[in-house]
Amino acid sequence: MTLRIVNPATGALLRELETTTADQVAHALAGARAAQGAWATRPAEQRAAVVRAFAGLLQRKLDALAAIQTSETGKPISQAKNEIRALGARIDFFLENVPKVQRTEPVHSEPGLTERITYEPLGVVGNISAWNYPWFVGGNVFLPALLTGNAVLYKPSEVAALTGQAIGELWREAGLPDGVFTTLVGAGETGRALLESKLDGLFFTGSYATGRRVADAARAHMIPVGLELGGKDPAYVTDDVDVANAAAGLADGAFYNAGQSCCAVERIYVHERVYDAFVDAFVAEVKRFVVGDPTDEATYLGPLARPAQIEVLAAQIADATSKGARVLLGGQRRAGGGAYFEPTVLVDVNHDMTLMKEESFGPIIGIQKVSGDADATELMQDTEYGLTAGVYCRDLARAEVILQHVSAGSAYINCCDRVSPRLPWSGRGHSGLGSTLGVAGIHAFVRPKAWHVRG
Ligand code: NDP
Repeated sequence: MTLRIVNPATGALLRELETTTADQVAHALAGARAAQGAWATRPAEQRAAVVRAFAGLLQRKLDALAAIQTSETGKPISQAKNEIRALGARIDFFLENVPKVQRTEPVHSEPGLTERITYEPLGVVGNISAWNYPWFVGGNVFLPALLTGNAVLYKPSEVAALTGQAIGELWREAGLPDGVFTTLVGAGETGRALLESKLDGLFFTGSYATGRRVADAARAHMIPVGLELGGKDPAYVTDDVDVANAAAGLADGAFYNAGQSCCAVERIYVHERVYDAFVDAFVAEVKRFVVGDPTDEATYLGPLARPAQIEVLAAQIADATSKGARVLLGGQRRAGGGAYFEPTVLVDVNHDMTLMKEESFGPIIGIQKVSGDADATELMQDTEYGLTAGVYCRDLARAEVILQHVSAGSAYINCCDRVSPRLPWSGRGHSGLGSTLGVAGIHAFVRPKAWHVRG
C-alpha cells in the first residue's frame, strides 16, 4: 500500500511511501529479537555513547529535521526547532539517570545469604507514536528504552512518517546496531499488525479511542503497557491574579502548536471578579498571534496537521453557539488554501456543550465565568480525562489546595502546557496509564530480577 504524505499548509503531495506490511512487521520483530540480546549485554557506557552521538547529530541537523516536520505536520518552523532543541534536555536527563536506575540494588546480607535486585530490559518493545510532537513523545519512549537495553519497533503516525524515517536514519548514523531500532511506516493497519505481534512491552501515544485497543492487545499478551492519551485540560484564574500575566500564559497554553498538544489548555474558568478584564486581555493576546505560512519564522499558528479535524472544531462551535455561547474571535476555517482554522475564543459557555467536555485538539477555547474556588474545582473535575490542571493565583497555598482536589497527573501553578524531563508525565482516567519521563519513566522499560544467593 502507498502512503501519501501531504503538506497541510498547501495541500501539495510531498512524498509517497510504501507502507510496512504485516510480513515486514514480523520480519522486523525477528531482527529486533536477534539484535536485542547483544545490545543489552553491551556495557551501559557504550549504549550511552550511541545516544550521545544521536544527540550531536540532532543538533547538527536541526534545521533540516525541523523543516521535514513542518512540511508534513504544518507545525510552525520556530516551534519545530524548539522541540528538537529541547529534546537535548531530555537526553541529558536519561543519560544521567538510567545508570542510577539500572544499578544493582543490594537489599539484604547476612552470613550465607545475599539478596539483591537487578533491573533488566523488557526485550523488544513497540512504540506507536502521535504526530503532534514526534520527537518529544517518541523520545520519551525510545530514549530510555534503548539506553536500558531494549530494542524498539517504532511506528510513527502516518502524519509524521517522514520524521519517523528521519529518526531511524539518525540512529543508524549514530552507530546503533542493525535491528535495534526499526521504523515501521504505515497507517492504522501497520499499527494493528504491531499490536498482534509478540512484543515484550507496548508504549502508545495517541487518542483514548486507539489507546483502548492498545490496552486490549497488551492485556491479551500479558505485557506491560504505557498509554499517553488525550486531555481536556482545565485552568482556573482566581481573583487575586495579575490578569495580563495570566492571559498571556493561558493564550500561549491554548494556542501553541495550534492547540494540538496533549496538555494544551482546553477550557478556562475565571473568577467572576476578574472575568471581564481577563477576557479582554485574553482576546487582545490572541489577536497578536501571527497566523500563516509555517515555514516563516514569524508564524505562531500554522494549519492543522489533519484537515479532518476542522469538522470536529466546526461541530463543537456550532453545538456551543446553538446553546447560547458567543464567539468573540474567529469561529471558522480560514479562507484560502490549506487546513487553517481561525484562532477562536468563545464565552458564555457551559458543560452542556461538547466544547467544554470533549478534546478539541485545535485552536479554539471556551472561557467560563465561575463564582469561586469550589465552583471552579467542581467544573475542573467534570471530565473523564486527567492529564494536567492549572491554577493562576498569587496565593500559592490557595492554588495548592485547589489542585489537591483535582485528579490530574500534572498540577500547574501560574504556568501551563509545560513538561519537564525530571517529572513523571502521566495521565489519569482516559488520559492514560503509566508514566514517561522522570525516574518512573525509566522504570517503565525495565523489570526487576530478584536474586536470592546462598553461599
Ligand atoms: P491516534 O490515536 O489517532 O493515533 C495514534 C497512533 O496510533 C498513530 O501512530 C496511529 O497511526 C496509530 N493507530 C491508529 N489506529 C490504530 C489501530 N487500530 N491500531 C494500532 N495503531 C493505530 O492519535 P493522534 O496521532 O491523532 O494523536 C493525537 C492524540 O494524541 C490526542 O488525543 C492527544 O491528546 C494525544 N497525545 C497525548 C500525549 C500525552 O503525552 N498524553 C502526547 C501527544 C498526543 P496512524 O496515524 O498512522 O493512523
